[in-house]
Amino acid sequence: MRDLELYVHIPFCVKKCYYCDFLSMPADDEIRRHYVDKLIEEIRQNAPDCSQYQVSSIFLGGGTPSVLPGVQIAEIIEELRQNFNIGQEAEITLECNPGTLTRQKLAFYKLAGINRLSLGLQSAKNRELQKIGRIHTFEEFLESFDLARKAGFSNINVDVMCALPEQILEDWQFTLKKVLEVRPEHISAYSLIVEEGTPFYEAYGEDELRRQRGEIPLHLPTEETERQMYEFTREALADKGYQRYEISNYAQPGRECRHNIGYWQMKSYLGLGLGSSSYLEQARFSNTRNLETYLEGRYCNLTEILQQAEREKAAGTREHREETQIVHLTKSRQMEEFMFLGLRMTAGIERKRFQQAFGVELESIYGNVIQKLQQQELLKQREGRVFLTEEGISVSNYVLSEFLLEVEEIEDCSL
Ligand code: SF4
Repeated sequence: MRDLELYVHIPFCVKKCYYCDFLSMPADDEIRRHYVDKLIEEIRQNAPDCSQYQVSSIFLGGGTPSVLPGVQIAEIIEELRQNFNIGQEAEITLECNPGTLTRQKLAFYKLAGINRLSLGLQSAKNRELQKIGRIHTFEEFLESFDLARKAGFSNINVDVMCALPEQILEDWQFTLKKVLEVRPEHISAYSLIVEEGTPFYEAYGEDELRRQRGEIPLHLPTEETERQMYEFTREALADKGYQRYEISNYAQPGRECRHNIGYWQMKSYLGLGLGSSSYLEQARFSNTRNLETYLEGRYCNLTEILQQAEREKAAGTREHREETQIVHLTKSRQMEEFMFLGLRMTAGIERKRFQQAFGVELESIYGNVIQKLQQQELLKQREGRVFLTEEGISVSNYVLSEFLLEVEEIEDCSL
């Protein structure tokens, strides 16, 4: 049976953080209940088309899934179990935020079979938390973490964020030190990205441009400080037994996030819920991002999408349908994604897997690029794998862009 990952999007938050451009919003109880009902409808409608798959991981993300009552999360999981073939050992993760967790909710999660929690902390400094618009304090995080442990969760991720406005290296070191004190199994450490359309873009967009031009920003840390933050993170976490296994992700041995690894290895995944995207049969498609439309039941119909994809594949043309935008990945696009995503992991990509996936040797497509990047000491090869060096990781945007192929997207379509 083929592997499938499920992503379930819960787009609700207590309030919007100032830097956030995720598909999330506040909503009242009635809308949230209506949403869960539609999600259940979508699960029932689309699961039969996945009968040839076994689900290896489920990720309930958002938004803040923990704003829903625990019983609704349990209902969603139960519905997934009833309709999909979920593997016995499946990793089931729920994203949650301090300030929204209770003992009762955690008991529901446990009973539903959720076996991994991902807690959004971002900073251990209350001043910083306030500045980025989070709803919680560091003390509330500690309380939530403790409740989760007491409820029996032994696999917890903590999200933290560096390069915040006015943040200096010592602030970041403080956050990491505090997180390490609670010993989570996994730590995700991302840099702040100032996204257009957010209050942070209004406040710091200019500053970000200044930074990109190599000028000294007024509020954001300089590129050099950000590099030091990354370096410190790697060293401090390695010292405490956390292996960096992806550019921004660290785990104790055996606690890497299987769901994310599947994504980086281009496993098939089905998204359920508002705005969620899917990758099935070498085609990408997404649900509507409009909540009203979703609540009217106008989400992807998998049977129709798979039929449409088949027709497009046979005819080599695209159908214009407003509701289903299918993007077929040509062979060259698949190769690029294989490299972009795979090289994000410190283990890199396996030559053998490239050959199996595309029927050609890695060298015949990327020989020159690999050679050039090796000479620049940004890439290494060992035991059939190709992976980034430490220096390569610190300039990963440049390295990954080297794997873009100069071919038309449609011309070698294998679909
Ligand atoms: S909690 Fe997460 S999803 Fe919600 S607004 Fe903040 S950053 Fe966005």
